[in-house]
Amino acid sequence: MSINFGKIMDTLGLDTRADEFTYGKDDRFGILSNAKIPEKWVKTTCGYCSVGCGMEIGVKDGKAITVKGDPDHPVNDGKLCPKGLAEHYIIDAEGRAKYPLIRGWAGFNKASWDDALDTFVTKVKDVQERYGPSSFAVLSTGQLVLEEFYALGKLVQLGFSTNNYDGNTTLCMASAVAGYKRSFGSDGPPGSYEDLEKAETVFLIGANIADNHPILAYRLFKNTSQNPNTKVIVVDPRATKTAMMADVFLPIKPRTDVYLLNGLAHLMIAEGWVDEEFVRKHTTGYDELKEHLERYTLPHVAKVTKLTEGKIYETARAIGTSKSTFFAWTMGVNHSTQGTETVNAINNLALLTGNIGREGASPFSITGQCNAMGSREASFTSSAPGYRKFESKDHRKELAAMWNIAEEELPIKRGLAYPDIIKGIIDGEIKALWIIATNPLVSYPDQARLKEALSKLEFLCVQDCYHPTPTSEIAHLVLPAAMWGEKEGSYTNSERRCSKANKAVEPPGSAKSDFDICLALAEKLRIREKLYPGWTTPEDAFNEWRQVSKGRLCDYSGMSYERLAEGPIQWPSTEEDPYGGDRLYKDGKFQTENARAKFFCIRNELPPEEPDSEYPFLLNTGRTVEHWHTRTKTGKVAILEKSQPEAWIEINPKDAKKLGVQNHDRVKVQSRRGQVDGLRVRATSIVAPGQVFVPFHFFETNVNNLTLDDACPISREPNFKQCAVRIER
Ligand code: SF4
Repeated sequence: MSINFGKIMDTLGLDTRADEFTYGKDDRFGILSNAKIPEKWVKTTCGYCSVGCGMEIGVKDGKAITVKGDPDHPVNDGKLCPKGLAEHYIIDAEGRAKYPLIRGWAGFNKASWDDALDTFVTKVKDVQERYGPSSFAVLSTGQLVLEEFYALGKLVQLGFSTNNYDGNTTLCMASAVAGYKRSFGSDGPPGSYEDLEKAETVFLIGANIADNHPILAYRLFKNTSQNPNTKVIVVDPRATKTAMMADVFLPIKPRTDVYLLNGLAHLMIAEGWVDEEFVRKHTTGYDELKEHLERYTLPHVAKVTKLTEGKIYETARAIGTSKSTFFAWTMGVNHSTQGTETVNAINNLALLTGNIGREGASPFSITGQCNAMGSREASFTSSAPGYRKFESKDHRKELAAMWNIAEEELPIKRGLAYPDIIKGIIDGEIKALWIIATNPLVSYPDQARLKEALSKLEFLCVQDCYHPTPTSEIAHLVLPAAMWGEKEGSYTNSERRCSKANKAVEPPGSAKSDFDICLALAEKLRIREKLYPGWTTPEDAFNEWRQVSKGRLCDYSGMSYERLAEGPIQWPSTEEDPYGGDRLYKDGKFQTENARAKFFCIRNELPPEEPDSEYPFLLNTGRTVEHWHTRTKTGKVAILEKSQPEAWIEINPKDAKKLGVQNHDRVKVQSRRGQVDGLRVRATSIVAPGQVFVPFHFFETNVNNLTLDDACPISREPNFKQCAVRIER
């Protein structure tokens, strides 16, 4: 590698193993020097992103006063990123939701849990009696623990008889989920972070890990510092911090990824780099793919993608000739109307080169939230629990028997996904909505349309750790939830690794864990024993989930709270082989009917909106390392908020000159759907001419006033990444 990463890593992965760091001798952020000495340390897992770093919370006088990385956790070697390092501040932050609140004529009134839950059940049942069971919908998030997802899925489906339930996957990983299902027959990232560390070639597409998954940037750094011949390839329209870590940076023209992926696949065939034996034994559709790829010649692909032939060839050669390639992606791929098919095109490349099921070799979606995987596996959203198929009678029969219910109580297809729930509200089909631990009035695209939808609801309940949030402010009922550090359960990270999340302190006021809220609602519905037989603790839910997942790809049966106390475990984990879940498909057998993976012939489609004379810039959105999603948490942490207090707009210096603006000027940005005022200009070559970038965390200057809610027809994931805007001083 030609680049020294030391400096980059200084700001990304902070080593908190040394005690002197925690106690202020090496207090680089100046946030810990006043920390008192904790009375005890509670091991847990970070509650922000899907990297899933192990950490310990320092507790004194019943308060979380500090955190440090867990040196024994296999994910992070004791390191934490800036968000994790300041995570204890979110617990005692201003604006915690402490008591249930019911909206009256003059605003919110404090209520008892009994009254709040009666209100919830009465309102939802009233709506369902008048408009039918599916007039009630639920939006949750990857922030809950796995036990809560499992409990919630049962409650929504069996207690409230609706499957219009989205776990927020649709705003995040739905395209990866759908892509895995199509290519391999099941959801489930095949590889491990260890593969990122061992790969000879690392191909990152639409994944700015340095900002979004900083400890993975550290794991990549470990690879390149130990293996100087490792080739890092980054495909991104922006020259991100991650791009600066690349040997080959491909600044691709937005939404031409499928061209590039097809062009690389074409070169694998043309240059004889296909793993013929793997393809012959373990795949279907190769002949059709070969024919389909004929037109993706190097000159053609270079012309469309605006990349040089030399760089495309160098990339192809690195993938085609190295022992192992790790293909990782995140929102730059998923957030697209062609997200699922782009995932399939990545999977094609991995299959062609036999890069799956072995060390260093995997297609790999880097998940978003700390427990997005738990939602995918257990919650009844994109699949029935245990990656069962809604459509399969056998699967329904099996689940019904385990739950001691009639098979007819289970849905035969998935319910409405997030954008379709919003459309359902606008069309008058959905009248009541329960939003759990998410904040759509910042995070959902096309805010004007969302506001129109939410204003039509007869009943909106928001369950969150904080109040007010932009979304909780408009609710009819607010249910206060315990947060990370205040409850017990488990999170499963991007590499299928399940880690314990433990309780260190009590929740404020009368806030309850989402798990206890599910139990209390089931009690109100008089079905607690039916849904949750004998359950009193999250461990009871986990033990039932172990049985429900047994024999499935996402098998947790070899795990237990006792085993997890010794360290995190990857699934599949069976009783016979509890620790054998390092990677999937090691035997080349996939979850399809004929056990073979499938190739897909994908054609590049144009984005739903492109720049024109009226709206001449292409807007891209994304994150920054200091903040988490809608800033409900990180906006309350002084060190993070002061580091990045506002949104900005990146404009190429050539465009800035044409617009007559310079660094720090404020501009108005408009799209066909809305506008944002007062964005501060960063004139920078990080973005190419004709493109602009705005981070999506900020309610005050919400870029989602501008974005489109057009979604991938297969996964229903919205196209957050490209829309046309104009800019005025
Ligand atoms: Fe690790 Fe992600 Fe938490 Fe940062 S936010 S400490 S990378 S889990």
